Amino acid sequence: MKIFVINSGSSSLKYQLLDMESGSVMATGLVERIGEPTGKLTQKNWPGEAKQAEVEREMPFPNHHAAMHTVVDLVAGQDTGVIASTSEIDAIGHRVVQGGETLFTSVLIDDDVVAKIRANCPLSPLHNPANLVGIEVARELFAGVPQVAVFDTEFHQTMPPHAFTYAIPYELYTELKIRRYGFHGTSHRYVTEQAAGLLGKSLNEVNLITLHLGNGCSMAAVRGGKCIDTSMGLTPLSGVMMGTRSGDIDPAILPFLMKEKKWSMEQVDAVLNKQSGLKGICGMNDMRDIHAAVAKGDKRAALALDMFVYQIKKFIGAFYAVTGPLDALVFTAGIGENDDVTRSRICADLEHLGIQIDQKRNAGRKKSATAVHADQSKVSILVIPTNEELAIARATLGVLK
Ligand code: AMP
Repeated sequence: MKIFVINSGSSSLKYQLLDMESGSVMATGLVERIGEPTGKLTQKNWPGEAKQAEVEREMPFPNHHAAMHTVVDLVAGQDTGVIASTSEIDAIGHRVVQGGETLFTSVLIDDDVVAKIRANCPLSPLHNPANLVGIEVARELFAGVPQVAVFDTEFHQTMPPHAFTYAIPYELYTELKIRRYGFHGTSHRYVTEQAAGLLGKSLNEVNLITLHLGNGCSMAAVRGGKCIDTSMGLTPLSGVMMGTRSGDIDPAILPFLMKEKKWSMEQVDAVLNKQSGLKGICGMNDMRDIHAAVAKGDKRAALALDMFVYQIKKFIGAFYAVTGPLDALVFTAGIGENDDVTRSRICADLEHLGIQIDQKRNAGRKKSATAVHADQSKVSILVIPTNEELAIARATLGVLK
C-alpha cells in the first residue's frame, strides 16, 4: 500500500511517498515560495527507486494547484519519479493543524469534514486555510483516492477540562471555543509510542514528558500513554519560548504595547510570532548560530540560551508534578535531536528529581533512538528522532482499515 502524505503550508508544500508494506520512504520533497516570482522544488528519491536520486526545479509556482501538478508529474515521471503512474497511490494523508472541538481523531475526508476544517479556520488562521488548499487541490487531482485528515491537536484531546480550560469567563469557551488545544500532536504521539517500545512497557503504562524542540517548541505531559497537558494553547504561540515566538508572557503586555507603542493588534501579533523568542533576545533564531555566538562571548546570545533552558526546566518541573512516577524525558525535533549542549543544560542539576544525563552517551547528534541517561538515573532520558510523515501515514492506514 502506497500512501502520499501532504503537509501544505501557506507558501509551501511538503510531501512524502511511503510504501507501508516495506515501511520505506520512496520519495520526499518540498516546494517553497509558492505564489512568489521564484519558487523552488527539491525532491529526494530513495536509492534504487528512481533514475535520479535528487530532483530540483527552480521555477515560479503561482499557486498550490500548480505546485501539486508539478509534484505529481515528478513523482510519477519517467526519470524523476518513483512510481509509474499516480494510480499506484492508494491513499493520501493530510496534516491539518487544528481540529478544534469538532474533529477529534483522524478522519476520512468528505464534504462535511472539509466544512468542519473550514469552520475551524478562525482558531488557526495561519495554518488551517493552507491545509485546506492542499486538501482541495488533492481531491481534484486524485479524484476517487481516499484522503484522510490527521490533526495536530488529536493527541492532546485526552487532556481533562481542568487542564484545557482557561480562567476567563466560561462563556468565551462555550461561545468561541477558546481553550487549550495543543499542537505538534503527531510528533508527541509518535515519540510516545516509540518510547513505550524502547522502555519495554505497554503504551498505557508509560509516564513521560515529551519535548518537541525545533523552530517551534512544545512539551507534553503523558500519563498512561495519554496526553494530560501540553505547553501550547489556543494557538502555537504559548508555552516555552521558541525560535521567533514569545511563548508565555503576561497577557497584560498586549494592551500595554498597543497603548504605549500605538501598535495595532496585527502589529502586536506579528511581533510576538515573528520577532520574539530567541530572535527577539539576540537577533538569531537558529540554535547553531546562537552556540557559535555564545562561544565568541556574545552576552545576548548567552541570555537567550539561558532563558530557553530555564523555561524548559520550569515546564519539566510542572509536568513532573502531574504525570505520576516519571519513566522518561523524551527529546525530539531539530534542537532535541541534534543539540547535545542544550539537552545537557536542560537536564543539569535535576539529580534530585532522579534525572541524570550521561555526557558521553549524550554527545553528538542522534540519527536514531538513543538512551542518554546515566546508569543510576531513575528517569530515562531518550532522544527519539520524530517522524511526523510516518505517523500521518500510519494514522491514514488506521482510518482506512
Ligand atoms: P525543526 O523545526 O524541527 O526542523 O528544527 C529546526 C531547528 O533545529 C533549527 O532552527 C535549529 O535551531 C535547530 N538545529 C538543527 N540542527 C541543529 C544542530 N546540529 N545543533 C543545534 N541546533 C540545531
